[in-house]
Amino acid sequence: MNILLQNWEFPPFDQIKTEDYEPAIRAAIEEAERNVEAIATSTEEPTFENTVEALETASRRLDRVSAIMMNLNECCTSKELQDTVMKMEPLMTRFSMKVVTDKRLYERVKRVAENFKNTEYSEKKTLLDNTLKGFVRHGVALPDEERNRFKRNAEELSELQVLFGQNALADLNEWRLLLTSEEELDGLPSAVRDAAHEEAVAQGTEGWLFTLAAPSYVPFMTYSVRRDLREKMYRAYGSIGGRGNEHDNNKVIKRIVELRTEQARLLGFKTYCDYVLEDRMVQNLPNLCRFMQELKESVLPAARKDLAEVQHAAKEEQQLMPWDFSYYAEQIKQQRYNLDSEILRPYFPLESVREGIFGLYGRLYGLRFDEDRNIPVYHEDVHVYRVSDGKREMGILYLDMHSRPSKRSGAWMTEFRGQYGDVRPQIQVVCNFSKPTADTPALLRFSEVETFMHEMGHAMHGMLSDVQYESLSGTNVKRDFVEMPSQVMENWCYEPEFLATFARHYQTGEPLPTEYVEKIRASQNHMAGWLCLRQLNLGFTDIAFHTMSDTSDLLDSADFKAENIEVQAMTNLLPRVPGCCTATNFSHIFGGGYASGYYGYKWAEVLDADIFSRFKHDGIFNHDTAEAFRREILSRGGTEQPSVLFKNFMGRDPDSKALLRRMNLIN
Ligand SMILES: [Zn+2]
Repeated sequence: MNILLQNWEFPPFDQIKTEDYEPAIRAAIEEAERNVEAIATSTEEPTFENTVEALETASRRLDRVSAIMMNLNECCTSKELQDTVMKMEPLMTRFSMKVVTDKRLYERVKRVAENFKNTEYSEKKTLLDNTLKGFVRHGVALPDEERNRFKRNAEELSELQVLFGQNALADLNEWRLLLTSEEELDGLPSAVRDAAHEEAVAQGTEGWLFTLAAPSYVPFMTYSVRRDLREKMYRAYGSIGGRGNEHDNNKVIKRIVELRTEQARLLGFKTYCDYVLEDRMVQNLPNLCRFMQELKESVLPAARKDLAEVQHAAKEEQQLMPWDFSYYAEQIKQQRYNLDSEILRPYFPLESVREGIFGLYGRLYGLRFDEDRNIPVYHEDVHVYRVSDGKREMGILYLDMHSRPSKRSGAWMTEFRGQYGDVRPQIQVVCNFSKPTADTPALLRFSEVETFMHEMGHAMHGMLSDVQYESLSGTNVKRDFVEMPSQVMENWCYEPEFLATFARHYQTGEPLPTEYVEKIRASQNHMAGWLCLRQLNLGFTDIAFHTMSDTSDLLDSADFKAENIEVQAMTNLLPRVPGCCTATNFSHIFGGGYASGYYGYKWAEVLDADIFSRFKHDGIFNHDTAEAFRREILSRGGTEQPSVLFKNFMGRDPDSKALLRRMNLIN
């Protein structure tokens, strides 16, 4: 029998074969469809248990099997697995769309809601509200014709989003910069050169090959002395998705925006932004605009100051261009802080960092992490820990830390199983750190230490969850709240007391020198005003596209009205380069789920800066404060509005000035 369809406590990675997925997914969908059909056709009076709770658990087997397949496709994929996912994903989407657009189910859930009219708050009420909202926001309450239209649009949209990403990727991969003489490499650190050389060799050529992928593009723009080459790279990057070839995204964007606007209008919203924000912590467009404008006003002077400084450093250039900024900003950083990220690495061997982070969670929440080598893994690099709080087992943590060709880039946290009732979560953290060599352990850059802390923040949000329903557990919170528990953990990386617990030279055992700690702290706000304005620029661009009153305004060329004079004049302090366009490569909003949500990064940053101020005040290892954070926020998942959770912990509403204070822009 198919191993995936049997009952197991831990995902049976050691027994799964790729060909098991398709039959397992098909069987699990059929089972889920039977469960859902039984709810829809039930002759019993609708109750919370036989309707809402039954829907919550109807596809549990499918959820488990698909979690394994989808998670492994990200971190340990193969051609066969990719093909399987391509084939299975539409089936899974069709199933979930079928559920949320089923009128019979909707009518039953509505009946249940009538009985909860007078309930102020309960976890059940939240699950019920979410379920009902899920139906309404997918158009179930619309007249037949409009409902079908909504469904068709949704299908077209999901195809267009995939197409957008594929187009951008094709353009990205098509362009290469092959350098053949040493002088063209001027300024590039040896690690960057080596990587470029390896890339060239891999492509069967000589010299040094640079691409537009982040690990190649970013260091090149940061370190290359050659302004002409930086310009070349910048122009190539800026034209991704807008080169007028068969991968051009301009028409795709136009259609996506048209469809999203129509979806919102079908549901009675003025704009797509209004539709999205109704289900977010920020609640509505006026709130969001106020937040963005205020933040912009506050950081603009700092951003201008950063620019003036960079312009000063670049005195030989008459007019600073976008391809100059990172380079000169880095020059200033090195002069001012004399802080080469390579110097820090020996103090951050992966194992020590991991023990440091485990130790922090020990001090904060009394957690213990015990490795268990008997739990199956999907790759030999994966380590599995049983997490307990001294009294009971809290869950399982899979750490998968190193790069490999079968893993996509980036770092993330995900789950094989979420917490509900007495069932404890199984959580995975995936990173792309370099591997140890024969004589050197894996050494992390400081930014990688931050990344590890960030993902562990998500992981502990899932681990410390204590709710009744899986769809409300852990990180299943409003999208603009989910980065708070992860971002807040990054703050500890800048605390000398925490660094002192684990940062030691891997050869000499010498603790991280105080002067380095000081420099790390001092450099925390390097060009922060500028970077914040850049994020705001992207956020405003996102909003502009999704608040258009008339989509016929959209042109068929790269210079969209939305990426227009207004947004640029407000938030872009460098000259605009003709032929370069953010939108045609803005995968966050056109290729994925961040549409009208890009602001969320900044929104969550305000919250995390504010939350950390309490830890700073009470002591960064204060057990009582941590317990309160766990009780009021982490354990509650999405069972209650984030604004309520926040207030329960802080005793007040968020302070919009918290981020500015951390950036040292105000006292
Ligand atoms: Zn995150």
